[in-house]
Order: sequence, then C-alpha cells, then structure tokens
Amino acid sequence: MDVPLLDLRAQYSRIKEEILAATTEVYESQRFILGPKVDQLEKEIAGYCNCKYAVGVSSGTDALLISLMVAGIGPGDEVITTPYTFFATAGSIARLGARPVFVDIERDTYNINPQLIEEKITKHTKAIIPVHLFGQCCDMEPILQIARAYDLVLIEDAAQAIGAEYKGQRAGSIGDIGCFSFFPSKNLGAFGDGGMVTTSSKSLYERLKILRVHGSHPKYYHKLLGGNFRLDALQAAIIHVKLPYLDQWTMARQANAKRYRELFTDHGLDRIIRLPAEGNGRHVYNQFVISIEKKRDELKRYLHEAGIGTEIYYPVPMHLQPCFNYLKGKKGDFPVAEAAAENSLALPIYPELTSRQQLYVVDQIQAFCAKCFQ
Ligand SMILES: *Cc1c(COP(=O)(O)O)cnc(C)c1O
Repeated sequence: MDVPLLDLRAQYSRIKEEILAATTEVYESQRFILGPKVDQLEKEIAGYCNCKYAVGVSSGTDALLISLMVAGIGPGDEVITTPYTFFATAGSIARLGARPVFVDIERDTYNINPQLIEEKITKHTKAIIPVHLFGQCCDMEPILQIARAYDLVLIEDAAQAIGAEYKGQRAGSIGDIGCFSFFPSKNLGAFGDGGMVTTSSKSLYERLKILRVHGSHPKYYHKLLGGNFRLDALQAAIIHVKLPYLDQWTMARQANAKRYRELFTDHGLDRIIRLPAEGNGRHVYNQFVISIEKKRDELKRYLHEAGIGTEIYYPVPMHLQPCFNYLKGKKGDFPVAEAAAENSLALPIYPELTSRQQLYVVDQIQAFCAKCFQ
C-alpha cells in the first residue's frame, strides 16, 4: 500500500470543475493584479479569522516581512520568537536587520514556552512572534500579557494554523497582526505562493496596503519604503473556491488525528511513541507529529521502504543554522527544541487519508518497534 505524506490530487479531483470555472473567469477578465478577486477574498478571510481587516500578500514569508515592516522593526531591534519553526519566521526578522532572539519550546506542543519569554526581554525588544506550530495555537494569554506589559507588537505566525482557536479566539485575531500562508501544503493551499495578513487595527491595515505596493500612496508618491507584496488574482480566485470546504477538511484532519490516537493506544505503542498534545483549543492538524527517542531516522527509513511518506519538521533548529552563526547560538542553548529536531516525525494526516491507510501506517510502526525494542 502507498501512503503519501500529502495527496493534493485527491483534493483537486473533487473541486476541479469549480476551480476551472473560477480561474477561467480571471483569464477572461485579464485582471491579474489585485482587483475584485483579491478584495473579495480579503473580506472572506478577515471574516473567517474574526478580524476586521485582511490584506492579501505574495506568500506567508512576505506576510511576516510586511508585518515586521509595518511595525517599524529594523536594525538594532530585537524580536523574540521560537527556534523550532520554518525558516521564514526567523529569516524575516534578520532580513530587516533586526536580531531574532530565541526562546525554547514546550515539549508536548512544540510551541514557544511562555514562561521563558520575559527573561529574554531587553530595552531593544520590539516584538514577539509566536508560531502556532502544526496547527495548534500557542498559549496566548501569558504571551499577550507580556506583550502588553512591555509594549511589544504581537505578530502571530499562523501559517500552519488557519481556523485554529485559543479559548474561542481564532488564530490571527489574538495579537496585533496575524500572518497566513497559502503554500500548497498548508490547510488552505493555493496553486502556487500566496499569503494573507490579518489585523483589526485600521491604521495598521491602511499602512499594510501601502507597503504592499512599494509604499506608493498616492500612486508614484512614496512616503514609506515597501515592496511588491501583492497576491495574484488567480490565487485569490482559487482560495475563494476552496475556503467553503476548509471546515470539512479540518474536521477530516481532526478525525484522522483521533483515529491515530486510538490506533496507537490499541497497538500498545503509546508508551514508546509520544503523540502530540492537544491543549489550547481547536487544533487544525496541519501536521500530526509524533516523537520517538533515538530511533527517528531509522523509523523514517523503515516507513519509506513500506511506501509511507513522512517528514521531519524541522531537522535543524534556528539557533544552529549556519546563516545565524553571528547570533552565537550553540548546541545546548535550547534543549527542548534540539530534542524535538532529533525525535519528531510527521505522519500523513491529510483529509482524504483513509482508515485503512492509517491502520497500515500504525501497523508498520508497530512492526518497526517490535523489531527494535524486543
Ligand atoms: C509555511 C510557513 C511560512 C512561510 O510561508 P510561505 O508561504 O511558504 O512563504 C512561515 N511560517 C511558518 C510557520 C510556515 O509553516
């Protein structure tokens, strides 16, 4: 049996006619840059995320970059974030000349540990970027309190967490700004790159729209330095078609997560394999990440040979990335993140995954464990 990590063709085949109609409409209009499709999607995403405003941008990375720009982050500033994330989070901070300051994660959620943030605050600290990793919100209440107490801008990296909730609040609506990605492997994926910034602040919203078009306002007059951060009308049209399906896809991901938990328990594997924690509210399971001590790479190889796709998110934490050598990070600085990088493995969790496939995945993991722990 073949079980890919992600099967986007299964999703496409069910909505193909609608996608083709929506994209054809864009071709016929020949309006490819911003315009009504992007305006409409911004309203829909703002509504979905319970925010007043949304601004369509070129990628999740550019959502982070433009958010830091609108917050006025630059050389000399420090921004607190997690070392256990996709590179874009730390990369965007560093590209603006600011310093990423890392804070270790919680073992069971893989999210930033709020208890460790305050000790990293200096007079240069300007912002915090919590990352809602794998589809689960960070523990936002203490983070929000710290941000308010020290007057820091709170930017949520919600690239993996559209629709996730923390105590009833949607990801992207809790801090000052939320950043989303429509990269194809995210829960709401475009046919290429795309992203969205959410906010409920009118003044941030207005400046975000100006920064998106090189800081031009009115046209050809530049008081601000921006970039080309525009979302394509074609991608907006595709996301518009997909959005009404998002909740049913999310429920299918949650059902798959539940089934994995039952299967791991039934197979007696829950002592050897650590399952992801479910703590702070609606988890949208962009990834289902298990942890196995010392044997992760062997397990990955074993599953690969059995036709099962898995992935390591992420093999190298940010403080050990060569491009950040100048930050003087070293092994041992963030032990929880380092252990996660060594032990974690993402299993297939996509909505169309069948129960037979899941049983096969867990059977294979059991066979591996029987072989190496007997
Ligand atoms: C995917 C992702 C990004 C970047 O999004 P792109 O659209 O690929 O640029 C940023 N942060 C996190 C946590 C992500 O998973």
